[in-house]
Amino acid sequence: METEIISIGTELLLGDVIDTNAAYIARKLSFLGIDLFRKTVVGDNKERVSRILRGALDRVDLVITTGGLGPTEDDLTKEAISEVMEEELIVDEEVVKNIQRRFSSKNLPEKAIIKQALIPSSAKIIINEAGSAPGIILEKKGKIIISLPGVPREMEKMMEKVISYLSVKKIGKECIQSRILKIWGMGESQVEEKIADILKKQSNPTIAPLVGKGEVHLRITAKFENKKVREKKIKELEDKIREQLGDYIYGVDEETLESLVASSLKKRGLKLGVAESCTGGLFSHRLTNISGSSNYYNCGIVSYSNQAKSELLNVPPSLIQEKGAVSPEVAEKMAEGAKKAAKADIGVGITGIAGPTGATPEKPVGLVYIAISAQDKKICRKFIFSGNRENVKWKASQAALYLLNKSI
Ligand code: ATP
Ligand code: MG
Repeated sequence: METEIISIGTELLLGDVIDTNAAYIARKLSFLGIDLFRKTVVGDNKERVSRILRGALDRVDLVITTGGLGPTEDDLTKEAISEVMEEELIVDEEVVKNIQRRFSSKNLPEKAIIKQALIPSSAKIIINEAGSAPGIILEKKGKIIISLPGVPREMEKMMEKVISYLSVKKIGKECIQSRILKIWGMGESQVEEKIADILKKQSNPTIAPLVGKGEVHLRITAKFENKKVREKKIKELEDKIREQLGDYIYGVDEETLESLVASSLKKRGLKLGVAESCTGGLFSHRLTNISGSSNYYNCGIVSYSNQAKSELLNVPPSLIQEKGAVSPEVAEKMAEGAKKAAKADIGVGITGIAGPTGATPEKPVGLVYIAISAQDKKICRKFIFSGNRENVKWKASQAALYLLNKSI
């Protein structure tokens, strides 16, 4: 199935809002093995939206739009769809009732409710669980238009239903299936070198290396009509790659380091205490981005100054004096101090030089020590990360998550 995405909104054209919706949808489509041919951004103008829609429908079978479904005058997506697909817009009473029920306290004007409840006559409705305007799926004349709201949270929630809908549609004759292997601790060229032989021989499935944020991904893509064959071929190749990369592969597909840490801590009923210096709370931020983090995240201390390290975490001032704040000894004491202060089972200590200032000949920018103090195990690792301040902070948080994941 060949696809185009149209992102609708003048704010996207002006650069006030970055079009993250198209990227999100594109990733989901690639998981489904649906070929995406083009992404277009167009302003809130009915004639221009109609023109772009017509063009897309001439080229492909499936068009996904986001934006312009709301109650205001500049929301014109359904009007354009109605014109292009020759479909009357009809007020859907169920949608009216739904919006009234959800927003009973908000006194939405009748006109705004009616506008959002206007649906092309033969379209299916996708209920909006995170907002008011519903999405629509319209199948007509061998084409499919899926229209989703612009608000990312609402669009993402609806994409779950769109994915179920699309996965049962026939996606062309040869189905594509992908699997992403996520690698931490090796650069792209190192990964390519390690699997050079496998890369040389690839045909179907193919392997595409991608550089993620502080990590490398390998996307395996298989194209076979039979699902069992696809899965078998992917599995075989994955096993070969795993033989070469072993523990450097930390996860697959949608797994992230923080999601893996979160589920391991939860499963084992372990609580965490964190002491961060150079990451300034980024590690804690990433872990607490996961809903339900209160189950395992007890307390985090951003101990930036030496005084804070001593007073809040019990790191002896003499140790800091002797070894320096960026040292394995201090990282270990920070992890222990955090564990104790948080009354936790595991403590994490991160100390380093994010740069660009603060380096000495012995301690360069990017030097980071990460310590983990668990009940039965204590580890401390040294890293030297490259990049600017933000890169170093991110890579340090990434390394701490990786080490923590390995130690639980
Ligand atoms: P609403 O009911 O809120 O009006 P809508 O479907 O009409 O939703 P828009 O009005 O086009 O959507 O956009 C709502 C908000 O969603 C925008 O202000 C913008 O912040 C965000 N948004 C819209 N399109 C995108 C996009 N492609 N990527 C990221 N954010 C977007
Ligand atoms: Mg709007």
